[in-house]
Amino acid sequence: MARRRKRNFIGGAVLLIAAMLYSALYGAPAKDTPSAAQSAAPVSSSKEAAQTNVWFLDVGQGDSELIRLKSGKNILIDAGTGETAKQLPVLLKELGVTRIDLLIGTHPHEDHIGGMAEVVKNFPIGQIYMPKIPNSQVPTTAVYENLLETIEAKKLKITAAKSGMVPLEEDGCKLELFAPNRASYKDLNDYSVVAKLTCGQKSFLFAGDAESPSEQEMLKTGYDLKSDVLKCGHHGSLSSTTAAFLKAVSPTAAVISCGVNNDYGHPSKQVLSRLNKAKVTIYRTDQQGTILAQCDGKTIAFQTNQKSLVK
Ligand SMILES: [Zn+2]
Repeated sequence: MARRRKRNFIGGAVLLIAAMLYSALYGAPAKDTPSAAQSAAPVSSSKEAAQTNVWFLDVGQGDSELIRLKSGKNILIDAGTGETAKQLPVLLKELGVTRIDLLIGTHPHEDHIGGMAEVVKNFPIGQIYMPKIPNSQVPTTAVYENLLETIEAKKLKITAAKSGMVPLEEDGCKLELFAPNRASYKDLNDYSVVAKLTCGQKSFLFAGDAESPSEQEMLKTGYDLKSDVLKCGHHGSLSSTTAAFLKAVSPTAAVISCGVNNDYGHPSKQVLSRLNKAKVTIYRTDQQGTILAQCDGKTIAFQTNQKSLVK
């Protein structure tokens, strides 16, 4: 009994430390104004490219998207699993990343934040956006605690991501957040940050692992969900990309990020058939590796089989 009590006490202490660290890392609520764009270091205009590049990185059964704006600023949404954590900074450097201006952790599951501590260690970071999770649901996983400790060690703060925020806006490109819309959800997936990137006339919607409850809320908000490319929620699971949501987004292309023969059966056959019926071109990281979408503001061109982290 004594041993069990001691173990419980240690468990409680770890939980308490995690909760204290967690609270300390979240900065004051950010205003709904572009902040990353203002605080990020200026990027040399000589690096300006004609296109915005979006890489849907093949991280196996996880999510990670790198966005390079025309100015050269980098946005990283999620960082894949712990399995590819060490290789991720290497690949990002190969892709020309020297700084992450905006880092978004959609939600604190290992398949999205598993490689994030390595990213924070390896690059100067501008702003970090993550959803604020109620203390009772804050994960006490080693990977999450390691991430928080790494963020603290670099004296960075986390901005609590909320629907309506515009973390970045420049040169005709805008990144706005459509979710989370509530302070508490039953499932951690529904805390997912959902972000829409608009560049000129074209747009991308990154749905994290948002499932049906969050999709329904987004439909009610009145936001312009219409996007040319949809990064399907929750790896193409049946819990996401519901018919009404898909109709509102009405993409011409969808990207599903999942691992080869994954244990979850992602993507769902029903979701694939829903996308096919809507005549949406489907790209899958399990079949086509890393997928690059290049957008000049008027058109989007896709290239498949770019360098993968697992193949
Ligand atoms: Zn996931």
